Amino acid sequence: MVSLCVFALTFSVSAKSSVSPGNVPVFGIPEARRELAAEAEKIRLELAGLPDFSETRQIDAYGFHGDYLPALDSMPEDPRWTVELSLGKSARVEQVVLVPAIDPRQGQLRGYGFPRRFRVSMQFANGSSETVAEWMDEDCPDPAHVPLIINLPTPRHATIRIEVYRGAREGDREFFALGEVFGVVENELWLAEVVEASPEFESRPYWSKDYLTDQKTGLGMPRGSASGGQDDEAGRDFSVVFERPPEDSCLIEFDLGSDNRMGWLTLFPAMPPSGSIVPGYGFPGKIELVGVRKSGSSRRYKPIYPGWDAGNPGENAVRLALYAFDGRWLQLKVSDFAEHNGHKVFALGEASISMKEKVYPVKATRLKGFPDGAEQLVGFLSDRLVGGRPELQMMEWFEMIERQNWLKGRLSEIMLADTAMEGRWSHAKKRGMLSLATVILLGLAVWLIRRQVNLQRLRLRLAEEQHHTEIEQIKLRFFTLISHELRTPLTVIPAPIERAMKEVGAGKLRDYLGVALKNVHELQQLVEQILDLRRIQDGKMRITLVEIELVEHLRSIIDSMRPLAERKGIVLAFEPAEECMSVRMDPRALKRILGNLIGNAIKFAPSDGRVEVGLSVVRHAMMLSVEDNGPGIGTDDLSHIFDQHYRGHSPSATQTHGSGIGLALVNEVVGLLGGRVQVESPITDGRGSRFRVELPLG
Ligand code: ADP
Repeated sequence: MVSLCVFALTFSVSAKSSVSPGNVPVFGIPEARRELAAEAEKIRLELAGLPDFSETRQIDAYGFHGDYLPALDSMPEDPRWTVELSLGKSARVEQVVLVPAIDPRQGQLRGYGFPRRFRVSMQFANGSSETVAEWMDEDCPDPAHVPLIINLPTPRHATIRIEVYRGAREGDREFFALGEVFGVVENELWLAEVVEASPEFESRPYWSKDYLTDQKTGLGMPRGSASGGQDDEAGRDFSVVFERPPEDSCLIEFDLGSDNRMGWLTLFPAMPPSGSIVPGYGFPGKIELVGVRKSGSSRRYKPIYPGWDAGNPGENAVRLALYAFDGRWLQLKVSDFAEHNGHKVFALGEASISMKEKVYPVKATRLKGFPDGAEQLVGFLSDRLVGGRPELQMMEWFEMIERQNWLKGRLSEIMLADTAMEGRWSHAKKRGMLSLATVILLGLAVWLIRRQVNLQRLRLRLAEEQHHTEIEQIKLRFFTLISHELRTPLTVIPAPIERAMKEVGAGKLRDYLGVALKNVHELQQLVEQILDLRRIQDGKMRITLVEIELVEHLRSIIDSMRPLAERKGIVLAFEPAEECMSVRMDPRALKRILGNLIGNAIKFAPSDGRVEVGLSVVRHAMMLSVEDNGPGIGTDDLSHIFDQHYRGHSPSATQTHGSGIGLALVNEVVGLLGGRVQVESPITDGRGSRFRVELPLG
C-alpha cells in the first residue's frame, strides 16, 4: 500500500513534468517557468518530509570470496568470514539484530549478500562459547528487508561471534554483506564497542567493518523506552477486546495541540496481555488515515492514506508516510480486526507521530466506536514503552530512497530546464529589443526621407507659385505700361471717327467707321480695367461713396449695355425686388462689377438668349444677380475663373475673345467694397450661369 501511495504521488508529480525547455514557444516561457517553480516547490516540500539518508547508506559491510564453492558437502572447516561484536563488559545482551545490506543496484528486494550458512555464538570470558543460532545444515531463508532478530536464551555478558561458512552467490562468485549489526541490551540498542572482522572484508576498497555499527542506515533503531522498560509495563499496551464485533470502523484521533508538519506515523504492534508471544497481536487488518486542520471555525479533512492492509506486521513496526501534512489532528480509522479466542481484538503497542527526528507529544487522544473503558487506556498509545522492538520497514526505505533519488533527479532537471529557458528568454528579449530598435530606426529613416521629399515638393511648388506670380506681375506691369501709353491716343480717336461718320452719311463707309468706333470703345474699356486692377493691387484705388438712387442707377448701367444685347438678339431683363431706394455706394465700382458680369452674360448667352439682372436688399446688404442661359461653366474652370488672366477651356470660352481680366477685377472691387461674389453653374439642364454679388450698404 505504501508503494501504491508513493507511486500515486510519483505519478502526480511526474505527470506534470513534460515541460522541456526546447519545445516551449518563447511567449510560453514565463508561464512554463512558473509551472516549473511550483513543481520544484512541491518537490522540496516532499523532500523535506523524507528522512535524511546519509551517503554512506550504500556502503555496507561487505566481503568477497573468490569462486563459489560448488557443493554443500565441501563446506570449509573454518568460516570464510567472522564478525565479532563486543558490547562492553556490563552488557547483558538479550538480542542480536542482523540488518540485511541494501543492494547497491537497488530495486532487488532481497537480503543482499545475506549469509546462507552461518552460526551465531556467544563467547564468554572464560574461553567457553555457546551457539545461539545456526543455519549450518540448511540455508538460512532470505530475510529480504526484515532484519534477523536472534533472541539469546539468557541475557549474559558475552562477545557475539558470527561465523559465515557460506555467503550469497552471485554468478560464480560468493560474497557476504551485512547492513548493520546490533545488540539489544535491556530493551535498548547497544552499539558494539569493538568489532573484529576477518581480514577478507578488508579486501574491498570501500568496505570497513565500522559500517556494521554506523547507524547510517537508520534501520536498526529499536525504539526503546528511556526508562529501560519493564516487562510488566511493556505488557500493558493498548488492547481492547470487543464483546460484539464492531459494525463499522473505529476511530482514533490524535490531537497535537497545534498545527504541525507531520512526516510519519509509526505503529508498534502490541504484546498480548497474557505475556505469550503473538506477533502483531491485535493489529488491525486495515488502517485509513485522515489529516485534520483548523480552517476558521470549522475543520478541514484531508485523506492522506487510503488504507494499510498489508497484513500482520509481526514484530515490525509499521511506518506510514504523512507527506508533510500540516495540521493539528490525525485520525486513524481502523477496521478488519484480528480474532483471538473467539473475540475481535484491537491492540497497539504504541503510536507516534514524527517529523524527521522529532516525535510530537500527543496532547489528547479521542476514541470513537470502541467499547467502554477503552478511553482509560489511551495513554498507552503514546507511552513509549513498547519494549525496544526494532522499527523496521525496509520496503519503505527502499521506496523512499528511490523516491528521494527520483525527486532529486527531477529537481536538477527542473533547474537545468529553468536555466535553459531563462537563457532563451533573455536572448529572445535582447533580440526583441534589437528588432524594436531596428523598426524604430527604419521608421525614423522613412519619416525623415518622406519629410525631406515633402519639403522639396513644397519648395518646388512655392518656387513655381513665386515664378507664376512674378510672371503675372511682369504681365500686369507690361499691360499697365501699354495701357498708359494707349489711354491718351485712345481718348482722341473716337471724336474724329464720330465726326467722319456724321459727314459720310448712311452707307458702307459709315458702317465700317461704326465697327472701328465700337472696337475703340472696347479697347478703351480694357485699358481702363487693366489700370483699375493695377490701382487696386497697388492700394491706390479709392472708394468714393455717394448717395445714389440705386434702382435708377442700375437701370442706367443696364440700359447702357442694352445695344450690345440687342445686337445679339438677347433679351436683357431687369426685375428689381426693390423700388426707389437711395443708398451710399461708389457708382464707378458698381458699374465695373455689373458691366463685367452683364458683358460676360451677353457674350456667352446664345443669340436670342436671355440675360436677367436681379436686385434685392436683405438687412444691410444688397444682393445683385446676373443670370444667363448660356452653356455654363465647366467644373474644372469653376474654381479658377476669378484668377487673373484665367480663361475657361470650354469651346464657348475659347471661341470668344477675352483677356481673363474681367472677373478678377470684379472680385477685387467687390472685396474692396467689403462684399463677396459667388458663382453657380449649371443652373438648369440647359446649363446657364448665375453670379451673385453681395455688397454691404452704408
Ligand atoms: P474673359 O471673359 O475676358 O475671358 P473673364 O475674367 O471675364 O475673362 O472670365 C473668365 C472666364 O470665365 C471666361 O473665359 C469664361 O470661361 C468664364 N465665364 C465668365 N462668365 C461666364 C458666363 N456668363 N458664362 C460662361 N462662362 C463664363
